[in-house]
Parts: sequence; structure tokens; C-alpha cells
Amino acid sequence: MNRDYGLSVWGDGNFKIKDDSVVIAHKSEPSLLEIVKKVRDKGYKGPVLLRFPHLIKKQIDLLYGEFKRASEEFAYKGSFNAVFPLKVNQFPNFINELLSVSNGYNYGLEAGSKAELIIAMAKTPLGAPITVNGFKDKEMIALCFIAAKSGHNITVTIEGLNELETIIEVHNEFNSNFSDNITPKIGMRIRMHSLGAGAWAKSGGYSSKFGLTSTELLEACDMLEREGLIERFSMIHFHIGSQMEEINPLKKALREAGNIYADLKKHGAMALNAINIGGGLAVEYSQDKANKNRNYSIKEFANDVIYFMQEIAKNKGVSEPDIYTESGRFIAASHSVLIAPVLELFSQDYNEKFLRLKEKNPPLIQELYELYKGMKKSNAREYLHDAIDHLDSLLTLFDLGYIDLEDRSNTEILVSLIIKKAIDLLSREDSDELKRLENKIQEKYLVNFSIFQSLPDFWGLGQKFPIMPISHLSKKPTQAASIWDITCDSDGELGFDATVPLKLHDVDLKKEEYFLAFFLSGAYQEVLGMRHNLFTHPTEVTVKFDKNGNYSLENIIEAQNLMDILDDIDYDIGAIDKSLKSNIEESKLIDKEQKQIILGKLYLYLSENSYLKTIQAIKA
Ligand SMILES: *Cc1c(COP(=O)(O)O)cnc(C)c1O
Repeated sequence: MNRDYGLSVWGDGNFKIKDDSVVIAHKSEPSLLEIVKKVRDKGYKGPVLLRFPHLIKKQIDLLYGEFKRASEEFAYKGSFNAVFPLKVNQFPNFINELLSVSNGYNYGLEAGSKAELIIAMAKTPLGAPITVNGFKDKEMIALCFIAAKSGHNITVTIEGLNELETIIEVHNEFNSNFSDNITPKIGMRIRMHSLGAGAWAKSGGYSSKFGLTSTELLEACDMLEREGLIERFSMIHFHIGSQMEEINPLKKALREAGNIYADLKKHGAMALNAINIGGGLAVEYSQDKANKNRNYSIKEFANDVIYFMQEIAKNKGVSEPDIYTESGRFIAASHSVLIAPVLELFSQDYNEKFLRLKEKNPPLIQELYELYKGMKKSNAREYLHDAIDHLDSLLTLFDLGYIDLEDRSNTEILVSLIIKKAIDLLSREDSDELKRLENKIQEKYLVNFSIFQSLPDFWGLGQKFPIMPISHLSKKPTQAASIWDITCDSDGELGFDATVPLKLHDVDLKKEEYFLAFFLSGAYQEVLGMRHNLFTHPTEVTVKFDKNGNYSLENIIEAQNLMDILDDIDYDIGAIDKSLKSNIEESKLIDKEQKQIILGKLYLYLSENSYLKTIQAIKA
């Protein structure tokens, strides 16, 4: 990993390094540190999730812009439309900003459940598309009819023939007594033979949980024809899976879907005029130039979609379909950054100042000390090997009772110092041995956040997110680092990976604060985040820039306080409150005056969130 932590690979020009800090590459270019300090000055402790609406706008502009460019270049006659899939991020401070910055595009929402459908019905501007995917019962389909009758441009995508039967049933109930005959548009999800891509490949392909086979598609058309609803069938839909890393599966899926579109039109689907290509546009998460996640650009993606649809329409003599996309990750991932304070560096005590050398040390320890002092580039490798050999012997001597705990501590410190010095002296050599050693002396950074809450895809899928410190960047980071969160779970660790080594700074947390930022966490993480150990969603803040380039901090929501967390998992908090209070009031150990003081403290703590309070740094 480079000194810029791969910012040029994953950063997309959204952030840059100025002096020694990460700044937002927008308007007045404030640093992340400055913003975090402002949030903390308002009294909020623990990790902070910053949202940047200008980055949501950037992605939406890019999506529409590239499809507009491609359509013009190819003189494409179908329209381009997009919806945001709510499952990617349903949080109101995200969705409200998304709808505000997309004003003018006719951008809509996609829903995959009843609760999401309610958000879509309440928030989508009338006329902008709503698409509804996933499994549906009669009630959910009835909600779609209510949306249509309130004037929404809504398409219900059916996943199977039984859903179509329910649509017909609901249509008869909703429309038989009225003359308006308003019915949602109907889409059909196709079950493709071409396989999906990425870790989520199961979303596409024959074994997919979703979609209609060719036989079912034909059957569905016949059913709609019989019921007089064929003119509501307007869209076919596919989704090949999220984070599509290569473009090839898309090309295959476009060919397959394009031909299905054309043949269904010929089969009598006269109102069919749209292809919904789902999501899947990937995000570059890699911090390493040599290992990128994505082999295509949004430009290539748009060109392929337009080109294939045009070719197939031409060859089969049908009109060019309107295009719908449901890209979610691509729109949301970059908009938020999680910033969390480091609480402790675990092995900082492997420091020369903690040595407890004696008047007379055991000979091997004396020798270690001399190896450490006398090490230079020419002898580094040899001395290193000697030191590691001594370590084994000394640990055995300790087990046998020949050396004491002070000697053992000196051994551990000296060997660690020797390895660090050797790595430093030999840093130009790229040997496996050095990498393995780096693994041994890695520093463990204890960070005030929960991986389960804030980066669940790391825990569940091994998805990596770009990590870097937001300050100290003019100094060389020297510590091979692994990151521990504050949950009591050994899975709450981002381990050191010698292939993409994360190096952080050696800082004295008694004198200065050190914050780590986790980027590209805006898609999927927030709602998948779980309250393992009862750590809740971090304090969130929206950072908005005005026309003059100044920024303001808005929509601050503090992480939940302790009682609210318990309330949320259905404890009777009245009873908890009563029990805590009466324990103190009836305690025989303390007098009345102390009881008042202790009660006061208890209620103060109960009003705070569950993250740790950073030890107050001494201002330099
Ligand atoms: C999840 C999903 C999406 C969004 O996929 P991204 O990879 O986030 O773009 C779109 N459409 C459907 C049907 C989905 O299930």
C-alpha cells in the first residue's frame, strides 16, 4: 500500500491529502479532522458517521450523464430511467438527501418489502418510477394498487405465476366497482441461463431464487391476454447480483434479456417497452493498485447497455426499449465515512524505556541487548536470526524456572525492538521472511467502534473497506497494524494482511488523538449492522456545503442512550429504572448524602451512548 493509503485507487477524487490531513475535495476543502473536532465539541463521543450529500449527487449525475452521453452517441430512441433500491440504505437522512439532490431527474425508488414500499409511496415524487421486486403477498400487491390509484408510476415485478394470479385477483377486487380501472404496470423478472457475478452470483442464473422460466413467461403472457391485462405488461427485469467485478456477465445477460424482450413483443406483449437491468454496478474498494476490484468504467457499462439493446432491437425489428437501472451500491457507497478514535496501542510497552535490565543479566539477555545496540544494515539479517533463536531458548529457560518474569519481559521487549530495527534496516528488500516478521510485531490498535455494527460485510463476507488515518500524514507510518474493535468478540478484528500491509503511526495517545476513517461504507452496512454487545448505530451527521463553499453540520442524531437500547430490545425500562434506583436507595453501605451523589452519576451515565469515552488528550 502506498503512502496515500491507495486514495488514488479508491478515492475517485472525493478526498485528498493536504499538508498532513485528509480533506474533502469540494468547495472550501475542510479536513475530516476539523469536522470531527466540531462534532466532538458539541459533546458527542464515540464514532461518528459523516454523510456527504454532494457525493450522492455526484454519483447520480454520473449515472444519468453517462447514459445520456451513450444514448446521444448511438442515437438511441428509448429513454433512460433510474430508481434507487431501498434495501441498500433506507436511513432517512440518506434517502431525504438523495431525493433532494436528484430533483430534476425523475429519479424513483425500488422497494423489496412492505415497509420499503411504504417509504417509496410516501417519498417518491408523483410520476417518478417506483419498482417493486421480491416476494409479495396479496396485501403487498394491494398496496401497489393503492399507490397506482394515488397517481404513482408504479411497476410490480412478478417473481412467479402465483403472484400474477394474485394481481388478477386484486385487480378484480379493486376495479370491478369503479370505472377508473387503474392497475399498476406489470413487470416480469426473467430467470436467466447466464450466471450472475461476484459474491452475490446467486441473484442471477437458473438456480436463482427469483424469476420466471421461458415457459412461465409465455404462460404469464397468455394469462394476461385472457384477463384483458396484457396492456399493463410493460417491463422485463433482471438483476445479475451485486458488485459485478467484470463486465462480461452483463454482456451475456443483456443479450439474453434483449432477445426475450423482442420475442415477447412478437408473442403479443404489445405494451412491453422497457428493460430493467437491475443493479450490480461495482465500487472500487481496493487500496492496492495491483488488485483492483473492477475491470470496467461506468462509461463502458452504459455503452454496452445501449449498444446491445439497439443491436437486438434492430435485428429483431422491434422498437428500442426504455432502460431502467436499479444501481444502489454505486450511488450510495461513497456518501458516508465512519470516523472512529483509537483508544489504545496494545504493544506500545515494547519500548526501550520499559526495559528492567539488572546489574547482572542472564548471558543470553546481555547478548540480545548487544545485538540490538550493534545492529546495522550489513549484519541485520544475521543478528535477527540470532535474536529469534535466543527468544526460543529464553522462553524455555523461563518455563524451567531459570529466569524470572523481569528477564522474560526484557526478552520480549528486546526481541521486538530487534525485529523492528531489522525490518527498518532491510525495508528495501522484499522478502517473505520480513513479511512474516512484520506479522509478528504488528501493533494492535484498539478502536472505539464495532465492526458488527458499522462494517458487517467485513464480518460476514470478508469485504474490505479502505482505511486510513485522517491526520499525521506527513509522517511515515511505521507500525504494521491490525485493528480491534471494542466488542467482546474475537471476530471484531481487521487483521494484518501482509499482501496489503496497513501501516499506521506510532502515536502517544496521552498527548494526541488519532482517528481512523473507514470509507465507502454507505451501501448496505447501515441496515445490516447488528447490535452485537448492544453497540448501536454511531452518531451521524450530515455535512452540507452552501453556494459560498461553507459547510454546516446538520441532522445530527446521537447514538442511542443506554436505556433506549434496552427499550428497543423490549426490556421493561421502567422496571430496570426502579430496580437500579431502589438498590441504591436501600443500600446499607452508604449514607443518605452519598446516595444522592451516586444517583446523580447513575442518571448521567444512563443518558449517554454505549461507546467508550476517549481518554481526554492532554492539549499540547
Ligand atoms: C439488491 C438489488 C439491487 C441493487 O444492487 P446493487 O448491486 O446495490 O446496485 C437492484 N435490484 C434488485 C432487484 C436487487 O435485489
